[in-house]
Amino acid sequence: MVLDGTGDTSLLLGGEDVPPVLEENGAGRSPFLLTCDHYGRAIPRLLGDLGLPASELTRHIAWDIGIAGVAEALSKHLDAHLIAQRYSRLVIDCNRPPDAPSSIPRFSEATTIPANQGLAREAAEARRRQIFDPYHRRIRETIDRRLRDGVPTLLVSLHSFTPVYAGVARPWHIGTLYQRDTQLAPLLLELLRREADLVVGDNEPYAVSDETDYTVPILGEARGLMNTGIEIRQDLIAEHAGQSQWADRLARIFGEIEATLRAQRLL
Ligand SMILES: [Zn+2]
Repeated sequence: MVLDGTGDTSLLLGGEDVPPVLEENGAGRSPFLLTCDHYGRAIPRLLGDLGLPASELTRHIAWDIGIAGVAEALSKHLDAHLIAQRYSRLVIDCNRPPDAPSSIPRFSEATTIPANQGLAREAAEARRRQIFDPYHRRIRETIDRRLRDGVPTLLVSLHSFTPVYAGVARPWHIGTLYQRDTQLAPLLLELLRREADLVVGDNEPYAVSDETDYTVPILGEARGLMNTGIEIRQDLIAEHAGQSQWADRLARIFGEIEATLRAQRLL
C-alpha cells in the first residue's frame, strides 16, 4: 500500500483496497516510458459504488475501456516501463490538475455522480493524497532516476476514447495528443498516417492543455522530455484480440520512431 502516512486522519484506502499504482517491466530497457492515467475502475471500499448503478461504472465515464490490455502488451513488446493507475477517474481524475473542477467530477457526460456532490475539502484532499499523489510521485521518481542515470526517456501517455460522445460519432481510429512537443508527436503522427487503413486525429478527439491535462504538461513538457499522448477508439480495443493487434502495431511504429531518433542522434 502506498500512502502518504503521517498525520493523515482521513484514510481513504484500507487494507482491502488495491494500491493505486501498478507497474510493469520496471527494469525495461526501452526509451519509452508508458503511463496510463485511466487504466482502472477500482473504487475504494469506503466510497461504495459512488451512488451509481453498475451499468455506469463499466462505461467510458469510469475508465479508458480497453487501454489496460494495450498498455500491458505494448510494455512487453517494447520492453518498456509502464506506470498505471488503478482507481476510477470518477474517484479522482489523474489527468487533471487537482484544482480543476473536473478533477473530482460532479457530472460526467450526462451522468450525475452522487458521491461527488458537495464533497468536503478533507474528503477531496484524501483522494488526492492517497491516489493522485502516489501515482504522479512514482512517475516523477522514475523520470528523476532515468535522467540521473542518463537513460533516454520519451513519455507516452496512453488513453482511449468513446466512439460516440454526446450522440456524435467520432471518425478517428487513433489520435495523437500534444501541446509543446515538436519531435515525438509529429513523428508519431507521420508514421500513423502511413498506415493506409487508419483515420488519424491530430489533437483529436482532444487537444492537450495546461487547464485540462496533467501528465503531458507537468511530467512531459515541464521536465523537458519528448512526449505525446495517444488516444485509441474504444470499440477497436474492447476485446483481447483488438488490444493485441493495436499493441503489435504500436510496437512496430515505436520501433521505427526509436530508430529514427537514434539516427538523428536525438536519443
Ligand atoms: Zn484517458
